[in-house]
Amino acid sequence: MFQKVHLYLTAMCAGITAAIMVVMSLCYLYISEKGLYDNQYASFQNDINTIATSLEQQSIISMEWLSKMESRGNYSFYVLDNGIPFLYNRLVGFSEMSDTKALLDKCLETYEDSFAYEIVSTERDLNFGLYNTCFHAEFPFNPTGRKHEYYASVIELNRNDSSLQMVILCALDFLEEQIHRQRTRFLVIDIAAVLVLTLFSFFFTGRLLQPIIENRRNQTAFIAAASHELRTPLSVILSAADCCRSADTKKREGFLDTIRQEGALMSSLINDMLTLSNSDNHNFPIRPKEAELDTLLMNTYEAFEPLARKHSLTLGITLPESTVPACMADAERISQVLSILLHNAISYTPSGGRIDLSLLYIKNRFSLIVADTGIGIPDEDKKKIFDRFYRAEKSRSTKGHFGLGLSIASEIVRLHHGTITVTDRPGGGSIFTVMLP
Ligand code: ADP
Repeated sequence: MFQKVHLYLTAMCAGITAAIMVVMSLCYLYISEKGLYDNQYASFQNDINTIATSLEQQSIISMEWLSKMESRGNYSFYVLDNGIPFLYNRLVGFSEMSDTKALLDKCLETYEDSFAYEIVSTERDLNFGLYNTCFHAEFPFNPTGRKHEYYASVIELNRNDSSLQMVILCALDFLEEQIHRQRTRFLVIDIAAVLVLTLFSFFFTGRLLQPIIENRRNQTAFIAAASHELRTPLSVILSAADCCRSADTKKREGFLDTIRQEGALMSSLINDMLTLSNSDNHNFPIRPKEAELDTLLMNTYEAFEPLARKHSLTLGITLPESTVPACMADAERISQVLSILLHNAISYTPSGGRIDLSLLYIKNRFSLIVADTGIGIPDEDKKKIFDRFYRAEKSRSTKGHFGLGLSIASEIVRLHHGTITVTDRPGGGSIFTVMLP
């Protein structure tokens, strides 16, 4: 299921970013291509102005001057002297001279259609005695109907008794090639970027999903472990109930006791699981109030001392000599943590051992310490014992220990923004330290 979600998220992430990138690339290409054509048109108009001014000033047009101007802007010039072709090159890309002629005729036609009014006014000016006039017009010229084929200009130069018509064509195929190259470059870059984005999205969404996958795995493990733990007391209850049917009154009492004990175990396990589930759902209320930890420790000591004695253990308590300030904590929950630690200490310390309960107040931090002379915890288990349902191998068979106590304790401490750690006690045993800010 997660694999499908992973692929779906990857496709969505990569798709959206790729679409944004492609749209941006297209916008850039549009602006840049428009700029190229506009610049070329502006530079063409500038050149035509220069050529027209030079033409006005020269009385003879030399071939040398024309070819110099031609090569300057990649232009083709066609000159008609009093209507007679004077200079006529075959246009690049045209196999026949007649094709060039047809092109020129079409260009002149376009010019006359578009600028008829201007020509008439120029002629009128002539009639008023302006015998040396020069008129020129520039326009995009697309003889085959495609976009951006040529920029064309027609210059009309009228002298006293002669007229000179010059057609200048600027083929735009070189711009088209440039644009084509630019588009190909963008396509390659976009494809590469989409591939990189897809890879990145794959790893990125994978990492995003990791905590969810982990959570799901933990939930499954939790349910499996809980079912396993519940199965044992349940099967004991069922078989005791079966035996009850055929047992005499005296034996029946024993079976009923067993049923009650196992039921109590199941109830405590279910309570623990509910506590952890509430904590996962952020439904585990902590109500911090000013709590006097020394009093709390003393009360806990008094509650556990008889139990320790029953197990032939010595329970000691050490409190700071001076009074400690009140701690902002939920006294009931902290007392629950101490109960878990003391229950464990009593369970995992052989008879004749010792358990010490102490409180330290150093640098605005409270340390609640439960130290025992018990079996100790191997280094490889030290981190795992705070995991749900984890029990070190040697204690697996201990009845009533489901491996949830320390998980609950660490949740409570975490909600108080504190820490819980375990270290070895010199000479054997463990020391659990709860630090509260
Ligand atoms: P449990 O209900 O099994 O005690 P906990 O979460 O309280 O579950 O503890 C987890 C495991 O940590 C225990 O099964 C035990 O192996 C180990 N442990 C906890 N406290 C002690 C201790 N004081 N001494 C030795 N081992 C301990």
